[in-house]
Amino acid sequence: MAAPLDTLPRPAHARSVIEPEPNRSAATPLGHDLNVRLARRAEIALIVLLALDLPLLGAGHAAGPLGAVGLILLVGLAGAIAVERRAIDRAVARSAASEATLTRMLRGLSRSTSPDATVDAIIDELREASGADHVVVARLKPAERVIEATLVSSSATVPLSVTQFPASDLEPGDAFAVRARTYASASPGADGAGMAAAPASGDTWRPTSAPPPPDPAMRPGSTMYAVERIADRVCRAYGLRHVLAEPLLADGHVVGALILSRRTDTGWSDQNRQVLTSSAQDLSAALERAYAHDAARVRAATDALTGIPNRAYFEELVEMLGRGGRRANDALGILMLDLDHFKALNDRHGHLAGDEVLRGIGRVLRLTVRADDVPARYGGEEFVVVLRRATEETAVEIAERIREAVRRLDLSESGIGEPVTVSVGVAVGVADARSLVERADAALYRAKRRGRDRVEVG
Ligand code: GH3
Ligand code: MG
Ligand code: MG
Repeated sequence: MAAPLDTLPRPAHARSVIEPEPNRSAATPLGHDLNVRLARRAEIALIVLLALDLPLLGAGHAAGPLGAVGLILLVGLAGAIAVERRAIDRAVARSAASEATLTRMLRGLSRSTSPDATVDAIIDELREASGADHVVVARLKPAERVIEATLVSSSATVPLSVTQFPASDLEPGDAFAVRARTYASASPGADGAGMAAAPASGDTWRPTSAPPPPDPAMRPGSTMYAVERIADRVCRAYGLRHVLAEPLLADGHVVGALILSRRTDTGWSDQNRQVLTSSAQDLSAALERAYAHDAARVRAATDALTGIPNRAYFEELVEMLGRGGRRANDALGILMLDLDHFKALNDRHGHLAGDEVLRGIGRVLRLTVRADDVPARYGGEEFVVVLRRATEETAVEIAERIREAVRRLDLSESGIGEPVTVSVGVAVGVADARSLVERADAALYRAKRRGRDRVEVG
């Protein structure tokens, strides 16, 4: 768990979640247009006043009290308009700069291919465009079943910080609701209790003694609810107080949140919200593409019948190990397995029953091998297991465990009463993976010749 970045007297639970507002216009540029128009009208009024006052001055009334007061008023008004114009020009320049930053950011995003590159681009540019002290990207990593939150500070000297929490935090559950109620009902204390939901207009959760009104958007399972849960976790992990969060969605499901944070409660402008919303939409699209790509890769590497890696994946692994994917002294173990008399079993019980046997072997392999080992369906009724950092002793032990587990498979539901057996060839060494596969294969044929249902070392 990452250490809080801000030193705060108590854990902060301040946060705010905004829903996407697709029709919201660019509030800041429009506001500037309005201000510029007002300033122009004031300038025209000044010119008219000057035009009216000049004849008076020219007619010799300059020294009179009316002329003097008029002159002072005009000079004051001109000064005020000049100051206002400069402030507007500065604001317009700032807005143009941040729009340019946003455009650059979007261009960078469309070039990005991996979600990591996208996250980097978003973080780099968003912290500039938003003026936030921190930007947090929390996103689901489906393979690891975690949500990974990356926090980047606007200060280049503060290192990036990463924390993870269970993906189950995205699912509706009681824990969050119970905790939220605890905050609302307890009085403010050293542990931060007594925080309630944000008032409709504000961005920050404030201490209150009254429980928060029920918010229909916050029902378990809603987008808002999931984002609140993520924001809550992120705020706790990093000690953030004033945050603005936006959901990251893929295929209509919440897969994370993009969060801006400030140390002080200075509120969030429409421009902040707009930049955050469009960044979250772009990041969502990039994540959706990445998840689809990952899912397609997993499908392409998985054997549809048994659910374990397929031959293509195994060959890729062997290639990788051959290209220096392991240290020179790391011994590798290869187990080659082949079902005994499987053709006869198919003939006796039918192909569907035979398929059930193959599924059973997949289950046995998944459950029997160690976490680092990789089982795969080599083809037909042949399987292979890659054992990392193996000794001959452990390799034979694992092979025997598999052989016995296959024998014990209960296949009565498929009408198979007799035990199914498997022959196994083992090869262990520091040689390249390809030659170990050949040795294991030779050992397998020896096991077949010597009577089947046995383990032989090559
Ligand atoms: P041995 O003990 O010598 O290995 O004999 P065997 O019968 O197991 O070997 P053989 O190579 O003669 O037959 C393999 C059989 O595996 C033939 C084929 O029908 C069956 N088989 C291959 N793939 C599948 C599959 O996906 N499903 C089913 N049900 N059977 C399959
Ligand atoms: Mg065979
Ligand atoms: Mg066979």
